[in-house]
Amino acid sequence: MRMGRGRDGGPASPRLKASDDAALAGMERLHEEVDVGATSLARLHEGRLRCARGCCQCCIDGLSVFTIEAARIQRSCEAVLNEEPHPPGRCAFLSAEGSCRIYRHRPYVCRTQGLPLRFFESSAQGAVEYRDICPLNEPGGPPLDTLLENHLWTIGPYEGRLADLQLRFDGSLRRVALRSLFSPAQARSPSEPWDADAGEQGRSALPGSATTRSRR
Ligand code: SF4
Ligand code: SF4
Repeated sequence: MRMGRGRDGGPASPRLKASDDAALAGMERLHEEVDVGATSLARLHEGRLRCARGCCQCCIDGLSVFTIEAARIQRSCEAVLNEEPHPPGRCAFLSAEGSCRIYRHRPYVCRTQGLPLRFFESSAQGAVEYRDICPLNEPGGPPLDTLLENHLWTIGPYEGRLADLQLRFDGSLRRVALRSLFSPAQARSPSEPWDADAGEQGRSALPGSATTRSRR
């Protein structure tokens, strides 16, 4: 996979090999699977979810994605990439009205935003489970620590599958900043080392999320 600049100096779709196409098709299927699971959980929690067009506090600036997700955006959203990015402070893909300009092709991390989440962190005593939700979605439903495990989105399994697809696509876990897709000159080269600090994909995008984290 190679990323480049268009004839007009603007962003260009990456040049893809047949194996890249297969990895991209696999990622699109993964996104569809995520949507099915996320939609089912959203229905379950519809009484508490306040997520709606125009609510965009979770669309923070500085998100990064694997190059495979960047390639999907570059390939499918060329017109948006020729528009002006949202000013710094919010995600570059946010419109002036507060909606996502690449909604259909948005990355994995944006597809489960707002749902009750569970994730694990290692400790001296072993893995510790944490639960978290956007503070706007915390009222109106049962406390997170009373929810059944399968009533939360578990962080880990889909991330692992996405990483496998990324390795097939690019041979590494390299990432690009979403904002950099508007300006290829500033885009991270696929040959640059993976920035571990950028690897969180924006789970911290939940506004004030640390205050709602509960230890199990
Ligand atoms: S790409 Fe994600 S963070 Fe950016 S505007 Fe769309 S939904 Fe929000
Ligand atoms: S996760 Fe929170 S900030 Fe984001 S759309 Fe849902 S309610 Fe709004």
